[in-house]
Amino acid sequence: MTDLKKQAIVLGGGLTGLSAGYILSKAGLRVRVFESDATVGGLSKTIEKDGFRFDLGGHRFFTRDKKIDNFVKDLMDGELLSVHRTSKIYMRNKYFDYPLRPVNAMFGLGIPTTMKIIADYGTEKVRRFIREKENISLEDWVVSNFGRTMFNIYFKEYSEKVWGIECSSICAEWVAQRIKGLSLSKAIKNAFFRFSGKDIPTLADRFVYPQLGIGRISERLREEIERNNDVYTGTSVERINHSNFRIDSIEVKRQIPPYPPLVKGGIGGDLSVISGEEFISSMPLTSLVRMLSPAPPHDVLDAASKLRFRDLVIVAIMVDRKRVTDQTWIYIPEKKIPFGRIHEPTNWSEKMAPDGKTIMVMEFFSFKGDKIWNQTDAGLVEITVENLEKLGFIMKNEVIDSEVVRAPRAYPLFEVGYKKHCDELYDYLSRFRNLHIAGRSGMFRYYNMDHAIESGIDTAEKIIENRTQNTEFRSQNEVFV
Ligand SMILES: Cc1cc2nc3c(=O)[nH]c(=O)nc-3n(C[C@H](O)[C@H](O)[C@H](O)COP(=O)(O)OP(=O)(O)OC[C@H]3O[C@@H](n4cnc5c(N)ncnc54)[C@H](O)[C@@H]3O)c2cc1C
Repeated sequence: MTDLKKQAIVLGGGLTGLSAGYILSKAGLRVRVFESDATVGGLSKTIEKDGFRFDLGGHRFFTRDKKIDNFVKDLMDGELLSVHRTSKIYMRNKYFDYPLRPVNAMFGLGIPTTMKIIADYGTEKVRRFIREKENISLEDWVVSNFGRTMFNIYFKEYSEKVWGIECSSICAEWVAQRIKGLSLSKAIKNAFFRFSGKDIPTLADRFVYPQLGIGRISERLREEIERNNDVYTGTSVERINHSNFRIDSIEVKRQIPPYPPLVKGGIGGDLSVISGEEFISSMPLTSLVRMLSPAPPHDVLDAASKLRFRDLVIVAIMVDRKRVTDQTWIYIPEKKIPFGRIHEPTNWSEKMAPDGKTIMVMEFFSFKGDKIWNQTDAGLVEITVENLEKLGFIMKNEVIDSEVVRAPRAYPLFEVGYKKHCDELYDYLSRFRNLHIAGRSGMFRYYNMDHAIESGIDTAEKIIENRTQNTEFRSQNEVFV
């Protein structure tokens, strides 16, 4: 008899969900991955249009974890390039090296401002030495590690542009994780002694990148899973049915006809109910909680309503020129320019555009429903081209084409106090014996790709370990659809 209960069901086909699905597949489990988007990859997908390719914001792969490094290198055999990272910050009509180089900074900011930065940093160190103070907000953390002047010149504007809220409302934990181990003294030491930042990911000067864009990692994972199992794109999870703190089934909706049955003997149609044994969710934590049926207690829903995400709008401009910049990323803190970061994918891999052409990708940080989010695609392209012209990068008549992508829930928003709400959700969800939450949106954590992959692998390995310990499962001769 076909036993639908012996299935591992994965919610979300980003790097986390696919890595989990890949490991479970290899271990011989029946795996089904459900992804609402038309393609796999989630935030790490690559979009292709007429030979031009771009990621949602340029994704470099870098990890200090040997296991994850080998996992990706084995999977991507022959597809990876080693790319040198060189980035700049555009402020006060000048370009500054990132990471900071003292001589460049001194000339750019002027000697008095540089002296003020150093004096401020020293004062802050002495102040903290005399009276230890807890860093609650991003502002506290940056002032303590870089001094007040540096905070005002760079971090304040850039962070507020990225997050859309004041630095005093952003939790310090986020920045401490994001630029782990970095301080003004380490940045200066790096600049003078040229250590390659191996122990500080944000300073690492080389990274690997697939020739055809970061989305290839997810595509390769999909290919591997589909050797024996299924990945359903264009299929969104709508409801999660449970009883006695066990998930029984999910209800999914397919967006693109035709709709053949998703289970053997089942009836076709856009809506299907999928039963399973283990459920891994990598879709946003807040969505998961809201989809539970019956609904969780009021305080759990209330905690979910207090966690917010920052959304992202990407504008890609295809240009009739071989190359515009030689940079990996250009950071733009100033608010008068509406986008926060630029990258030119052809500097990452020549294959990201047809011969003799290039593409520039701008990130607009936004909240769903705000002016940027609601702006028409044509309006966004117009603003982007206008600003690229102002910055001296391109001329309007060089633009061949454009593409706008709206990426909801791109960044978990770490507002002061968020952790309490997160813990309430973790606590409630941990009571479900066959539900495993993983990944960046899934855990509401600031995960990079290596962490997302690791989170998927770890979750799958735990499931496999539990199964092999359970003799009932070991002795069973499983029959799958
Ligand atoms: C602008 C930007 C730049 C970045 N740059 C880097 C970088 O340079 N290096 C790096 O290592 N990391 C980078 N990251 C982080 C990286 O993108 C993430 O760590 C990684 O993609 C997270 O993978 P995930 O699978 O956990 O989450 P996601 O990619 O968010 O995957 C979750 C999936 O769930 C799907 N989903 C949601 N709701 C449903 C539903 N109801 N039903 C079915 N499916 C659903 C979504 O469509 C999505 O595919 C960057 C992120 C952003 C936003």
